[in-house]
Amino acid sequence: MFDLNLVLRDNIKRLTPYASARDEFKGEASIYLDANENSFGSPLPVAYNRYPDPMQWKLKYKIADIKGVPPQNIFIGNGSDEAIDILLRAFCNPGIDNVILCPPTYGMYEVSANINDVTIRKVSLTENFQLDLPAIESAIDAHTKLIFLCSPNNPTGNALNREDMEMILSNFDGIVVVDEAYINFSRQHSFIQELTEYPNLVVMQTLSKAWGLAALRVGMAFASEDIITVFNKVKPPYNIGQATQDLALQALENVEQVNTWIKETVHERSLLVSRLSALPQVLHIYPSDANFILAKTIDANGIYDHLVTDGIIVRNRSKVELCAGCLRITVGTPNENTALIEAIGAFQSSSSVLKN
Ligand SMILES: *Cc1c(COP(=O)(O)O)cnc(C)c1O
Repeated sequence: MFDLNLVLRDNIKRLTPYASARDEFKGEASIYLDANENSFGSPLPVAYNRYPDPMQWKLKYKIADIKGVPPQNIFIGNGSDEAIDILLRAFCNPGIDNVILCPPTYGMYEVSANINDVTIRKVSLTENFQLDLPAIESAIDAHTKLIFLCSPNNPTGNALNREDMEMILSNFDGIVVVDEAYINFSRQHSFIQELTEYPNLVVMQTLSKAWGLAALRVGMAFASEDIITVFNKVKPPYNIGQATQDLALQALENVEQVNTWIKETVHERSLLVSRLSALPQVLHIYPSDANFILAKTIDANGIYDHLVTDGIIVRNRSKVELCAGCLRITVGTPNENTALIEAIGAFQSSSSVLKN
C-alpha cells in the first residue's frame, strides 16, 4: 500500500514553509505596504512592481479547464525541470535513497538526481524500447522512492505500453512519475485522468513542446492534492513570474491554433518517415508518437557533420545506449523537412557502404 508519509523525507514532513506577504493577507485592499515593493510603480507599462500570485490560481483554473483536472491537483513549475528537482528534494534522502530510470531516456532525471546526490538505478529498456518489468522489480528496494517513466519517450519517440505502466503504478509503493512532454502527438491517452485511481501517480506535462512556449518555461505536474501540497511547501514562493503567468494565460486561449499545429506535425511526421525510409543513408526509423523521429543511419557522425555544413542541426544520439548510429530529428515545417531530406540524400559516406 502506498503511504505518502512513508515516502516523504522527514525534514519535509516537519518543514514550516515560507509564508510570503501574499500568503498572510489574501483579500483585496487599497493600500499595500506589506511586501516592501516599490509603491510608486514599475518602469514598465504593466504593474510589475507587485509580487505575483505565488499559487498562480488564474493560470491553474485555465489549465484545469483545458485538462479536466481540478486546480488543486496542479503544480506549475519553471519548466518540467523544476518539478523533477522538487520531487527529488522532497522524497529522496541524499546518499540514502534511490530512483529508477529506464534508459535511453530524458537526460534531466539523471542530472537532477546527481545534483541532489541521489543514487540512480538504471534499468534499460528492451530492444523495442519497452519497459523490462522483471528487471525493474528486482531493482526496487526499501529505499527506492521514485520511478521515472517517459511516455512517449525521448529520444526513442515511442509510447510505453500502458499495461506495463499500470502494473508499476499498482505494485510500487513509491512515486511513479509519468513524463508526458510529448503526449499531444501520441495515439495513447494521457494518464492525467487516472489520478484518483493511483495515489502514487505524478503526471508531468509542459508548454514547451506542442504549445510552442519553450522560452516561457512553464512545466506542469498533476497529482493528488496531498502530493501537490508537498510541491507547494518545497517550491520557491514566487517560482513563476507575473509576465510568464500573463503570457501563458493568453497563450492558452489559442487551443485551436495549437491543435492545428499538432495535426500538421503528425502529418509531416508520417511524410518524413516515408521519405527518409526511402533513402539508402537511412537504415531504420523507429515508430514515433512524438514530434521527432529516431533514425538509424549508416553513419550518424558523418551525416550530422554534413547537415551542419548545410546549416541543419539535428541531435546526434549515436553514443546513447541502444541508439548506435541514431540521429534524433525534430519534425519541421514542410520546407524544413524537404531541405533535411535533400541534404541527407546528398550525403556520400567515405567509410560505409550504402545499403541496396
Ligand atoms: C522537452 C522535455 C521536457 C520539457 O522540459 P521543460 O523544462 O518543461 O521545457 C520534459 N520532459 C521530456 C522528456 C522532454 O523531452
